Amino acid sequence: MANTLDGLHAVVTGGGSGIGAAIAEALAGEGASLTLMGRRLDRLTARAATLPGARALACDVTDEAAVESAFAEAASQGGPVAILVNNAGSAESAPFQRTTLAQFRRMIDVNLTGAFLCSRAALPAMLAGGFGRIVNIASTAGLRGYPYVAAYCAAKHGLVGLTRALAQELARQPVTVNAVCPGYADTDMVRNAVDRIVDKTGRSREAATAELAKVNPQGRLVQPREVAGLVAFLCRRDSAAMTGEAIAVAG
Ligand code: NAD
Repeated sequence: MANTLDGLHAVVTGGGSGIGAAIAEALAGEGASLTLMGRRLDRLTARAATLPGARALACDVTDEAAVESAFAEAASQGGPVAILVNNAGSAESAPFQRTTLAQFRRMIDVNLTGAFLCSRAALPAMLAGGFGRIVNIASTAGLRGYPYVAAYCAAKHGLVGLTRALAQELARQPVTVNAVCPGYADTDMVRNAVDRIVDKTGRSREAATAELAKVNPQGRLVQPREVAGLVAFLCRRDSAAMTGEAIAVAG
């Protein structure tokens, strides 16, 4: 039992695409029952249909009331939530002086406040059930700075800070809190960034992708399943001594 997730109910936010979808698949592969939460119910439902016993729930993680009711609904459908993967996120880029307040707030809301709201909604059941795993999908942008993404970097640094503080607060409780920090990964987020580079510079898609990939020391994009493997490891019952870490998966 120590190395399986049998009998554990896991919520993955933004689980309909990219890294979140790979995490859902990895957790289901280790025996967890899944609730996928996100904004696009059609896509989440299609993804849930590929995983045994998985459910989909519409939820904008930046909306406090929606988060509270989605977690209540998840518990009533699938039992108490034992694992939460705060994966929903988005990355907008702009030179700092052209970053609008609305853009800055959007980045903080989705990448940081969403994880706060979901963790707060999930925690009571974890404490009552005597087991909990919270994994926050941050970024290498939570560990170092990058140009033209100040708002995203600030939000992801905040998410790493939230992880460390909550881990300290819960250290004597059976709940761990860790952050996983991918480098540039092969998902829609990077494909959209490539589109923007192509639009702005006229470079080819191949050249734009290579430029982002070379930021990772291995010179390639990280695959979503490589992130998912670490998340599944952190969720295992015998990973209980790891908490408050921010681990890069960035080649
Ligand atoms: P993605 O765009 O495929 O996934 C993001 C998911 O979050 C989508 O399913 C989206 O619908 C969902 N989402 C966005 N806003 C939401 C909201 N308000 N409420 C609920 N769901 C919402 O991209 P991805 O690369 O798979 O991103 C997953 C996570 O990984 C993000 O947190 C991202 O910041 C992080 N990340 C990605 C990379 C990368 O290079 N792709 C690198 C480091 C970190």
